[in-house]
Amino acid sequence: MAGIYIHIPFCKQACHYCDFHFSTSLKQEDKMLSALKVELILRKNEMKNTTIETIYFGGGTPSILKVEDIEWLIGLIKIDYQVSETAEITLEANPDDLNPEYLKALSKSSVNRLSIGIQSFFEDDLKLMNRAHNANEAKTCLEQATQYFSNISIDLIYGIPGSTNERWIENIDTALGFNIPHISSYALTVEPKTALEHFIKKGIIANVDDDLANEQFHILIEKLNQNGFVHYELSNFGKEGFFSRNNSAYWQGKPYLGIGPSAHSFDGTTRGWNINNNSKYIKSILNHELPIEIETLTVTDAYNEYVMTGLRTIWGVSLDKVERDFGKDYKSYLLSQADNHLKNELLYIEENKLLVTKKGKFLSDGIASDLFKINT
Ligand code: SF4
Repeated sequence: MAGIYIHIPFCKQACHYCDFHFSTSLKQEDKMLSALKVELILRKNEMKNTTIETIYFGGGTPSILKVEDIEWLIGLIKIDYQVSETAEITLEANPDDLNPEYLKALSKSSVNRLSIGIQSFFEDDLKLMNRAHNANEAKTCLEQATQYFSNISIDLIYGIPGSTNERWIENIDTALGFNIPHISSYALTVEPKTALEHFIKKGIIANVDDDLANEQFHILIEKLNQNGFVHYELSNFGKEGFFSRNNSAYWQGKPYLGIGPSAHSFDGTTRGWNINNNSKYIKSILNHELPIEIETLTVTDAYNEYVMTGLRTIWGVSLDKVERDFGKDYKSYLLSQADNHLKNELLYIEENKLLVTKKGKFLSDGIASDLFKINT
């Protein structure tokens, strides 16, 4: 079982907080589509004996593409790869691209799941983040999308400077009003070299407040739990039957093929990442050369990744798996490093799995790093 990720590296405008790879110029769109086709063909043998269970269009902004181009790419995948009849096929979309005509066409395509970048229902939050959509579009796109799709996820951002807990609660309630089955939610993070970092340094935007973000994260957990969502990964909440199969596969260490500039791939032992430059990517691929760097994971890398992802999920870190895959020494190391966090009730063990407590949830990445082994 494996997945295919396709990176569509175009956006209408640059969100202030974003450090993903994208271009706001669409000049190379046609060439990019040709290059994606060639990369899919060049790499088909990497997934030769595997069934593709998930296809994910991420970005960038995949909904910038015409529906016929999306369906064309899916068709190409179906020619060269064994795609399961029940594959989850997700399209990331921005509210300003989703009108009834587009949604109707999309609902007739092979796409069966939408992940919509709502982020906030408040106009000033959207302006502060320089999103391309407005508050009205955030709501109307959901009214319309729910008429065509039942499997919908939305992204919401908390800890936005100037936000209050009352406004955050209103954002969550508005989202719940649309009866969608999946929500991904992230704290606003100040990434290096972003416009957000620049504006904070200049004093134009107030800095993010970790305490506010922590409070809003706990409000989110409580409200979504009350409304039947399972908090199955640190940033992801889903109703039963609607967990993201694509992301769950990443977290469970399943292989995936990343197509497009900056896309990452994993085959179980090696990790690869494509060049994050549109022109160089196109030139290289059209010359039939893969612009990819590859690293082989050491046992220690694989252990660290498993601990990091395991602690973020409700599946936890299985002590049996650590012993089986990495050896007794790793299990002893893990337990000795976890000792303090167990005593401080940030971690607990249940059914031989190491899990974070409610108190430990906001700190889980830091806790995981205490359990890492250093490569020697
Ligand atoms: S739409 Fe998404 S990928 Fe594009 S700039 Fe905004 S956050 Fe980044």
